[in-house]
Amino acid sequence: MQLQSNNSKMFDFAIIGGGVVGCAMARQLVLDGAKVILLEKAADILDGASKGNSAILHTGFDAPVGSLEQKCITKGYEDYLALHEQMELPILKSGAMVLAWNTQQEAKLDELIDQAHQNGVADVIRLTRQQILDREPNLSPNVKGGFLVPGECLIDPWSSPHAYLTQALLNGGEVRRNAELLSGSFEGDHWHLNTQAGSITARTVISCAGLYGDVVNQRLIGKKLFSIRPRKGQFVVFDKAASKVSSTIILPVPTATTKGIVVCRTIFGNLLIGPTAEEQESRTDASTERETLRDLRQKGIDMFPTLANYDIAATYAGLRPASEEKDYRLTYLAEQNYLSVGGIRSTGLSSALGLARYCAEELLKSSKNFSAIKGPIIPKANRLSDYHPRDWQGSDHGEIVCHCEMVTKREIEQALQDPLPAKSLQGLKRRTRAAMGRCQGFNCMGTLASLTEGHFDRPIGEADHD
Ligand SMILES: Cc1cc2nc3c(=O)[nH]c(=O)nc-3n(C[C@H](O)[C@H](O)[C@H](O)COP(=O)(O)OP(=O)(O)OC[C@H]3O[C@@H](n4cnc5c(N)ncnc54)[C@H](O)[C@@H]3O)c2cc1C
Repeated sequence: MQLQSNNSKMFDFAIIGGGVVGCAMARQLVLDGAKVILLEKAADILDGASKGNSAILHTGFDAPVGSLEQKCITKGYEDYLALHEQMELPILKSGAMVLAWNTQQEAKLDELIDQAHQNGVADVIRLTRQQILDREPNLSPNVKGGFLVPGECLIDPWSSPHAYLTQALLNGGEVRRNAELLSGSFEGDHWHLNTQAGSITARTVISCAGLYGDVVNQRLIGKKLFSIRPRKGQFVVFDKAASKVSSTIILPVPTATTKGIVVCRTIFGNLLIGPTAEEQESRTDASTERETLRDLRQKGIDMFPTLANYDIAATYAGLRPASEEKDYRLTYLAEQNYLSVGGIRSTGLSSALGLARYCAEELLKSSKNFSAIKGPIIPKANRLSDYHPRDWQGSDHGEIVCHCEMVTKREIEQALQDPLPAKSLQGLKRRTRAAMGRCQGFNCMGTLASLTEGHFDRPIGEADHD
């Protein structure tokens, strides 16, 4: 099954896209024993939908019963908990409460609890209004009712996928960045792919191209299979001091189209409110709008009146790779050795490991075709969680470069040297959180520019500061 030629290596799998899904897929297939290359069009990974989300590890309690999404979230959740021990992936076991603020929402609670139980999330329980207020004393007394989902957690949206792909690389996988897939042809038993970074041959192609999933399908198999309908979600991030306002993830009663506006802490020590759900044409416009942010802030204050006393530290928006259907869009074309993994709309961070396992076991049957790596190398994740020991807290931490997020020089140097080194300012931010705090880099950008000299394709100053 594994071929090699002198000049051009034959990979078993070429994965298009270094979002959380592609990173998890690469890890799974490398550990299964396959030769894998991941191709990412941006200068660094996590440049699409995976760069801006709410970072909740969902239990799948509200996923449509029996859907592929529900199945993958369940597997992904289990796998994350197992891997978190091995790789020290950060996790904040905060639990969530789904709250009703009017009688119509209240009327839906029992149905949602029943759905959660059908989805195997058995510990979901109804709470009295008083129990809710006891748990969250800062909550507005206007709350009508709700239920507890103890298993919902907060995780790090970047260190986790970074660790998945790092494990793939440490165990023989390859990655090529600045390598947009441009075109390709299936030559009977393998693919010849043309990328911005040269040509690649691989037996099987797996498209995990997120917001460009339909575009990549069109380029390779001549049909889109689905249409991406980007859905923007804007967020307001409150100062770290606001994290003491609420300890549980506060979820609204979901609607058919969105999980709704959430209030939750972040693993980095802030408190956020969002996301909105705005359909748009653009696959790249992740701008925020003043009016929307003002509404979000007000929504937060309506739920937690004391939030009016806290400052906003940052705002951001992410784009969901939604399609015309709610469920994930998986198509395996066995006769063309092509797997399209698309439409991973709003739960991909939670489901990625499960989705990768599902694809490997059920569709690609990789364990039958390859021999799993024995005793794989297990990397440790970057330690960015404010709820766990950080590098600066050690007595030997040395110089601190970013004082807002307490990022050490050692962490910056590590991020530039690790097996998957940062290749852009955005990539560095996602590995270290440097320049992501209150001053947004005002104080440390000069030092970052000199520390990163020669490491990025576009030096700091020339690059976009997004
Ligand atoms: C506002 C918001 C909130 C969310 N909240 C949560 C949450 O709390 N919990 C949760 O589990 N999930 C959440 N999600 C969902 C999660 O972020 C997505 O499901 C996930 O990021 C999708 O990942 P992906 O790998 O499919 O796509 P992407 O992250 O978009 O990755 C695709 C990659 O493919 C690359 N690419 C595209 N075209 C090409 C090409 N031609 N050649 C090479 N590379 C290419 C892109 O550059 C990109 O890096 C949220 C999403 C948003 C936007």
